[in-house]
Amino acid sequence: MALIVQKYGGSSVGDIERIRKVAQRVIEAKKEGNQVVVIVSAMAGETDRLIGLAHQITEMPSEREFDVLVSTGEQVAIALIAMALESQGYPARSFLGAQIRITTDGVFTKARILGVEAERILEELEKGTIAVIAGFQGIDEEGNITTLGRGGSDTTAVAIAAALKANACEIYTDVEGVYTTDPAICPEARKLSRVSYEEMLEMASLGAKVLQSRSVEFAMKHRVPIHVRSSFSQEEGTWVLKEDEKMEEVLVSGITCDKKEAKVTISKVPDKPGIASKIFGAVSEANVVVDMIIQNVSAEGYTDVTFTIPQTDLKKALEVVRRVSQEIDAGGVESDSNIAKVSVVGVGMRSHSGVAARAFSALGKEGINIMMISTSEIKLSCVIEAKYAELAVRVLHEAFELEKTKR
Ligand code: ASP
Ligand code: MG
Repeated sequence: MALIVQKYGGSSVGDIERIRKVAQRVIEAKKEGNQVVVIVSAMAGETDRLIGLAHQITEMPSEREFDVLVSTGEQVAIALIAMALESQGYPARSFLGAQIRITTDGVFTKARILGVEAERILEELEKGTIAVIAGFQGIDEEGNITTLGRGGSDTTAVAIAAALKANACEIYTDVEGVYTTDPAICPEARKLSRVSYEEMLEMASLGAKVLQSRSVEFAMKHRVPIHVRSSFSQEEGTWVLKEDEKMEEVLVSGITCDKKEAKVTISKVPDKPGIASKIFGAVSEANVVVDMIIQNVSAEGYTDVTFTIPQTDLKKALEVVRRVSQEIDAGGVESDSNIAKVSVVGVGMRSHSGVAARAFSALGKEGINIMMISTSEIKLSCVIEAKYAELAVRVLHEAFELEKTKR
């Protein structure tokens, strides 16, 4: 008998009709002889609605109360799913994160899971009951309700799959799986049948929205096989797995695009030891996460420094950077939010060369100027003007012949 964890996202439980369909799907898995644990997100739009309510009260709600509020969406969904299962004659019980004891740290709104009490769930499974567990939430050491950040139900599902040593963690969503790029931007995008944890991690943090990146980190650490698939069809989706040699045969597996960064340039920075540490020390103290950094070759003792940060942190970062640049006697500070970061991702880049050259030539042919470049072992990212983002995605997809993807 296999043990399967199934997670249903908001769109899969968007209304009562959909909830009945989900129950049907859970029952099918059960009828096939599996033990099933179900993790559920709030009904579509519900978390946004709750966040909206909080912001009607105050711009900066207490984070503790914010978590109490936004965690309620999942409570509604688990009860409805359990009712739907019971009404079909299948014993089911719903549980909140605190009941199953999903313990987290105390960082409200983006808590990390510390542990899951597997015994509690296993007891239910032994009785033949289907356990329906609220995603996105936990309880900290002091007994406070916490939430795991947007999209956190994915992480709940993976953590529970890891704790139960489940055979698979199925993530049900409204798309067929993980694509070579966003099909809304590039109609030639292909579904990948397999992708490695590392690639998925790059893609998730670069803006492919199917999985919360923390869930992928967790799955990689605990070797949980994830199957991302649609709750609207029976098709196989995408397996997220440990890398194997076959995966490296493919040069590039996906193109991603992120329009949520901004770039900051400090000109005429004195080229002396300790200066970079002054700038980035201050930025990090303000809790702003820097992504790319470039520093120009020094001319006459001065250099320019450019870096990217999340757009939402731009105001905060500019305040800090303006202050520091006066202290270090730099020139001006400029910023630009009209940028996009397009990236080429693939484990094949480890063993093949020429990816950068091919990407640059494809962008160059379209007259797209590259403002910044960064690379890692399995990724190449370019910052370009935002208005060219979609075009860049399409030309890169074509340059690496991803429409022929068979992986
Ligand atoms: N309901 C939460 C959200 O909308 C968690 C999730 O869907 O995974 O972010
Ligand atoms: Mg999601």
